[in-house]
Amino acid sequence: MNTIDWLTKLIAFDTTSRLSNLALIDEVANYLTGLGLKPWLVHNEAGNKANLFVTIAAADGAEEGGLVLSGHTDVVPVDGQQWHSDPFVADIREERVYGRGSSDMKGFIASVLAAVPQMQAASLKVPLHIALSYDEEVGCLGAPVLLAELEKRAIRPQHCIVGEPTDMRMVVAHKGINTFCCEVHGKSVHSSLTPKGVNAIEYAARLIVFINRLAHDLQHRADLDQAFDMPFSTIGTNLIQGGSAINIVPNHCTFEFDYRNLPHMSVADIIEPIEQYIQTELLPAMQAVDADSRITLTQKVNVPPLNDQHNQLLHQLIEQLVDSDQRAKVAYATEGGQFERAGIKTVVCGPGSINVAHQANEYVPLSQLARCDRFLQQLILSQQQ
Ligand SMILES: [Zn+2]
Repeated sequence: MNTIDWLTKLIAFDTTSRLSNLALIDEVANYLTGLGLKPWLVHNEAGNKANLFVTIAAADGAEEGGLVLSGHTDVVPVDGQQWHSDPFVADIREERVYGRGSSDMKGFIASVLAAVPQMQAASLKVPLHIALSYDEEVGCLGAPVLLAELEKRAIRPQHCIVGEPTDMRMVVAHKGINTFCCEVHGKSVHSSLTPKGVNAIEYAARLIVFINRLAHDLQHRADLDQAFDMPFSTIGTNLIQGGSAINIVPNHCTFEFDYRNLPHMSVADIIEPIEQYIQTELLPAMQAVDADSRITLTQKVNVPPLNDQHNQLLHQLIEQLVDSDQRAKVAYATEGGQFERAGIKTVVCGPGSINVAHQANEYVPLSQLARCDRFLQQLILSQQQ
């Protein structure tokens, strides 16, 4: 099957993150097994989703080291979107393949699967691996499970290409995603007795303003990275809930904020000042009224950034395979940071555009798929003995 055939097949599996991806994984596993390979799966706790990993050994049989081609199998929902065609039926028109996941990122997976026979026929000096994950779109939950299993099996690839849509440009760095849930517990009283209560919404508001000032400070640091379109780390409070009635001082307020860090910045860079503000400013004032008042801060999503440091060998290899010598840095996150954290040098490069990903009428141009096919062919050639 060629890339378009595979993409048509992959789009037809509705692998929206809330659903199982097992039908798609089984199809791919059967295909690989039929080619004489030994794919293995690692499931989520519920057992309804799986990552798939397969190694195409080097000519001497070696399965150590080598390069991983990585993609996520899940897609974002189509709920509420106006599609011109069925999002789960590949619709080929205008030199494009329309369908959910065509760009993000079943196009890359299709191209990789179509190239497997060529990988097997090549006399590889190092192995090639294929990694397919679940639940990338809901916080990159699947890849860490796969990476832990690799560690357990002592499989240590050297390099990785994550095929998220980059228009086949090499992306060498991206920001991280960290989300935090903050719960403010105060004390309820009748609103006529306001000073006797601890107003959770108002303390939450003070903390949100503090976080907003931090966000402002981030924009004026000396260590910005102009290679990013948003050259600083960003923070924003994007969800809030609290209160029950207009005449009750609220005892509970929950809000969530999102911190997108540049690769050289850490979670501690913002959490330390926030914790300090809570400890020195907010809690003393709250607990002076009610000793049980408290604030809890919990990290929910933790997707590490992808760093472009210490990656020269891989960058030089990929640079020869793409049309542009541009080394892009992007604001969106991928599983690349997780691979890198596991000691696997990673770049992001794949067909299609992030601008159409997650949108109605998502598509991948046929020309991008052809470029990806060519990229993989040249990659295989470059890995031959
Ligand atoms: Zn994606």
